[in-house]
Amino acid sequence: MMIFYTLRLINRRSLLGRGSLALSALAGVPRIVFPSESASVIILGSGTPIPDALSSGPAVAIVTGGQAYLFDAGAGVVRRAEEAAERYRMPALVAPNLTRLFLTHLHSDHTLGYADVILTPWVVGRREALEVYGPKGTAAMTEHLKLAYSDDIEVRTHGLEHLDPEGPGVNVHEISAGPVYHDAHISVRAIPVLHGSWRQAFGYAIEAGGRTIVLSGDTSPCPAIEEACRGCDVLVHEVYSAVRFAGLPAGAQKYHSSFHTSTSELAAIAARSKPKLLVLYHQLYFGPREGVDLEKEIGQGYSGRVVSGRDLDSF
Ligand SMILES: [Zn+2]
Ligand SMILES: [Zn+2]
Repeated sequence: MMIFYTLRLINRRSLLGRGSLALSALAGVPRIVFPSESASVIILGSGTPIPDALSSGPAVAIVTGGQAYLFDAGAGVVRRAEEAAERYRMPALVAPNLTRLFLTHLHSDHTLGYADVILTPWVVGRREALEVYGPKGTAAMTEHLKLAYSDDIEVRTHGLEHLDPEGPGVNVHEISAGPVYHDAHISVRAIPVLHGSWRQAFGYAIEAGGRTIVLSGDTSPCPAIEEACRGCDVLVHEVYSAVRFAGLPAGAQKYHSSFHTSTSELAAIAARSKPKLLVLYHQLYFGPREGVDLEKEIGQGYSGRVVSGRDLDSF
């Protein structure tokens, strides 16, 4: 069946340097089983809606137990996952192995790569369904995307590629606050956040590999995120520059303060919730990156460890 892409996958065996190899009969794709649990937090995309060569659209991968769990699907997500797979020798991040996706909300910058996560892994070998967890509207978006690509799916399934006639399988789970997922390696809890006029936006609290990881998604200062962290191992939080914000027109200030979190606000959140590590992502500079030091801005109100995340950083 997979006559066109299997050669490429065979080359992926060079990635399989650690752990014991197990072949999945269903997927036909090699998987690694690691002897001991750990959890890596990998920033696949640290960006925002602003197209920036250094920053792909928002996406974070948590890799544990030989499985990758994606949080958001910004533009470039699958290619960044492949890059991370190479860099960290993590087969869990090669495209055919991407089977778990959690969406914080449906803003375009967080979902422009959703079609990529549905289609690209399927084209190159994923045969199990993609399991997607997201807010209300995720099912409709999924159906619309599959409709938009119906000619592609038709040609690939009934043309000479002979891909699975069922097409790319996607199981959508529209979630509400609270526990939304668990398996042998990870548990995921959805936290409602405050993202301006969005009806439903979530952050996530994740337990994996003995670590507690909290992802803010897009939010203005949110007590529930603060509460979920409380001494957590890693808090990955969105942020904008309070220094540059001061020079914005009133309308832009109103928008950003309602939808997002400033460095000074985040410093206060971190001082109260005491993460062992604060990672900044979805950084808004309001202009060129040069001349803005987000870590320094945070440092004025918070003395803990802060890292401004870059694409492909691992924590
Ligand atoms: Zn965003
Ligand atoms: Zn947003």
